[in-house]
Amino acid sequence: MEAMAVSCVEALRGLYSAGAADALRSCGDPSNVLLAAQGLGHAIECGPAGLAAKAGVQELFTCIVHCMPQDPSLRGAVFMALSGAAAARSPQLATLLLSSEVLEEFGIQRALRAATENDVMVVCNVPLLLDSVLQEAGKELAAGERAGAGSSSGSGSGSGGSEEEQGRREQLQACVAALRRAMQPMWTSNVGGRTLRRFNEIQGHLPAALRLGTPLAAALLDWWRRPEAQQAAALEVAQAAARRSCAYLRCGNLGGEGGPAAGEGVGSQRCSACRAVWYCGTACSHADWRVGHRRVCKALGAARAAEKERRRQQETEQGG
Ligand SMILES: [Zn+2]
Ligand SMILES: [Zn+2]
Repeated sequence: MEAMAVSCVEALRGLYSAGAADALRSCGDPSNVLLAAQGLGHAIECGPAGLAAKAGVQELFTCIVHCMPQDPSLRGAVFMALSGAAAARSPQLATLLLSSEVLEEFGIQRALRAATENDVMVVCNVPLLLDSVLQEAGKELAAGERAGAGSSSGSGSGSGGSEEEQGRREQLQACVAALRRAMQPMWTSNVGGRTLRRFNEIQGHLPAALRLGTPLAAALLDWWRRPEAQQAAALEVAQAAARRSCAYLRCGNLGGEGGPAAGEGVGSQRCSACRAVWYCGTACSHADWRVGHRRVCKALGAARAAEKERRRQQETEQGG
């Protein structure tokens, strides 16, 4: 099994280098789309945990969705391969698959409704796919609540989320609540947790759940794309850069003079505003300011101050 997964990953690597997405787009043979979907699905399910997050994998996944064959049975088989893997391993891919642009543009919902009439596997895959997106959205909301509670009780400059972010959160909450209600009858609870009911019991609830799944996927995509999330991602990159001897990512000075590791070495300079990043000199600090440090400097400084405050509190707790 493991050897097979490894060979699949190897084959995929070969496919990328040969421009798999471009080849698929231009070949026009629907059976190739099915082969690609099954190969990719298998690699995601059996390959290393981080595989589904790789940009190449997401590109190929999206490309396959956009190359959906017209033939309903082929389409059903492609959907099976993609949805099984996404539901099992990647809420991001599940959301991509459920999101409105993809589903509406290619009429997958219609094909699904036809397929669900006689396909047990599709009937089971769809609730798992919906549930994967539902769980992920729930996690995002819970994380947002924790962060909100932290910033409102603390001092600092935390804004506690903009009005726009609040609107997005409410949209996501409404979608989650609606789908959760619609999916409730599909599960049966038992000692170990919950399991899906038999397919003939689920079938009747599917169309309504699917109609609610699409807006939820769209709301979740929107949530991930909100400026606050992008700011958080930028901050993460900047914090990683702050560990280098020179925080300007295009500078080749990786282990040389200066930087946080070496302390204030010869010629090293610290950003005087955030005091969180180091540079070889003014050429690098000016260049980094222009390419993006100016957008994260304030947040880096706030994160550094919060970390210092946390350490100080820890020390007083231990001391007292
Ligand atoms: Zn430098
Ligand atoms: Zn700075």
